[in-house]
Amino acid sequence: MVTIKSHREIELMRKAGKLLAQTHEELEKAIKPGMSTWQIDKLGEEIIRSFGCIPSFLNYNGFPASICVSLNDEVVHGIPRKDCIVQEGDIVSLDAGLIYEGYHSDAARTVAVGEISDEAKKLIEVTRQSFFEGIKYAKAGNHLHDISNAIGDYCESFGYGVVRDLVGHGIGKNLHEDPQIPNFRQKRRGIKLQAGMTLAVEPMINMGTYQVCWLDDDWTVVTEDGSLSAHYENTILITDGEPEILTIL
Ligand code: MG
Repeated sequence: MVTIKSHREIELMRKAGKLLAQTHEELEKAIKPGMSTWQIDKLGEEIIRSFGCIPSFLNYNGFPASICVSLNDEVVHGIPRKDCIVQEGDIVSLDAGLIYEGYHSDAARTVAVGEISDEAKKLIEVTRQSFFEGIKYAKAGNHLHDISNAIGDYCESFGYGVVRDLVGHGIGKNLHEDPQIPNFRQKRRGIKLQAGMTLAVEPMINMGTYQVCWLDDDWTVVTEDGSLSAHYENTILITDGEPEILTIL
């Protein structure tokens, strides 16, 4: 069931979104070569708790950390580790969520560690832009898959692989609510969008094939061909006009 949020709920989700945007901003600034992914997670958790919020991901279906930290060919759900050190030239996808007064916000960014290749920069930028291409269609009266089609077509025009096994989602009192939001072209139009829906739109884009596999930890998703992957996500509010992006400052 897709829920329509009340004014009160929207106010809480706005606040949750702003705090998460601030978390990402602080995390991005702090990332330096030589840090372990465990340190990145601990810092993220500290920031979230300093706002009086709860990390959405910690213990979610057994996930053992607050921030998903995915390096290079890791697509999403990387588990932070003390022995995983980020190096100059790496790209790091940070996916974070928090709960404020019972409401979740969810957002992801891929960040560069020091100087990265031009190819990697382009992948990150196209992934980010694909979100904005998608949400051009995110308004009441349009259909959900208008968003999916726009994201997928944009990324494929660069020859990139659009991950199919993982999708965006509705969000609110629960981290994952209906509907599922694919990032590639769909045969059907999907549900009609209505004002008051809150959605986490999150393209996951690979430099090579769209195919992914899971590591033995049953969490970490990696590209099948070992190519780089980037992730960009925001929680948005559907309105009768332009969508409101809740997780940017
Ligand atoms: Mg998400």
